[in-house]
Amino acid sequence: MAKRDYYEILGVERGASEDEVKKAYRQLAIRFHPDKNPGNKQAEENFKEATEAYEVLKDTQSRAQYDQYGHAGVSGHPGFGTGGSGAGFDINDALRAFMRDFGRGGSGFEEMFGGGQRRRGRQDLYHGEDLKIRLKLTLEEIAFGTEKSIKIRRFKRCAVCSGKGGSSLRRCPQCNGAGQVQQVSRSMFGQFVSVTPCSNCGGTGEVISSPCTTCSGSGRVEEQATISVKIPAGVSEGNYIPLRGEGNAGMRGGESGDLMVMIEEKPHERFVRHGGDIITEVPITFAMAALGGESEIETLEGHGNL
Ligand SMILES: [Zn+2]
Ligand SMILES: [Zn+2]
Repeated sequence: MAKRDYYEILGVERGASEDEVKKAYRQLAIRFHPDKNPGNKQAEENFKEATEAYEVLKDTQSRAQYDQYGHAGVSGHPGFGTGGSGAGFDINDALRAFMRDFGRGGSGFEEMFGGGQRRRGRQDLYHGEDLKIRLKLTLEEIAFGTEKSIKIRRFKRCAVCSGKGGSSLRRCPQCNGAGQVQQVSRSMFGQFVSVTPCSNCGGTGEVISSPCTTCSGSGRVEEQATISVKIPAGVSEGNYIPLRGEGNAGMRGGESGDLMVMIEEKPHERFVRHGGDIITEVPITFAMAALGGESEIETLEGHGNL
């Protein structure tokens, strides 16, 4: 299949700035990300294609080579895997590239999981943090799917105060319940108003007169939890399974965060995975190679004939 033009894929002009390239890619990547399109092969292809285009065009050197020689100029570009098939890189490379530039802390991740935007305002100050855990899986587990128990340390709601953090909640006297304070400063350029969270109540607008002694008023305590995760067949390294509400409990009864289970592949002693294919080496004799023959090979399911 002939490769599409990288500029065309990203929908940017040939003279597009680095920023425009990044922006165009980010939009496409979020739209086609496998997380948003589970099991959708076409979306996965689009995601890979966009990432490949981005990897080449974001780099001044490879972009110059591409401008001059086209796809042939960048076929050996780092990150393009070793497959000489010209199929570009596989989905793992693409996911890694996306996470590298737009991952946690970057804007892509937040947008996909509705972080950032959602967590604003008073209620959101209490929202529990998301947690992330790595889970190593064997190739067999990945191929057939599995169920795993994982142990994590996290905050759970305090049972003593039912997460309230104590009794006699009252309005913070310092900010008058607003949760933030305004500061006005003057300079030769004019008057500046800055708004900062109130330090007395931590931005919540409320203070507790008699805090719960078990959780010191936070409404949550640490626990060791065991959670079972169903892994569907066919996940790959770099995929993650979001478990809603399994992250840290929020402060003072706030909503819990999510738990992200990041998939990692344990290297297999005999098989190498390349995208959706499993590669294994089978020793054959010279005579067999010349005359043909039958050789028993092992597959993940057991034995098969070649
Ligand atoms: Zn408590
Ligand atoms: Zn306050």
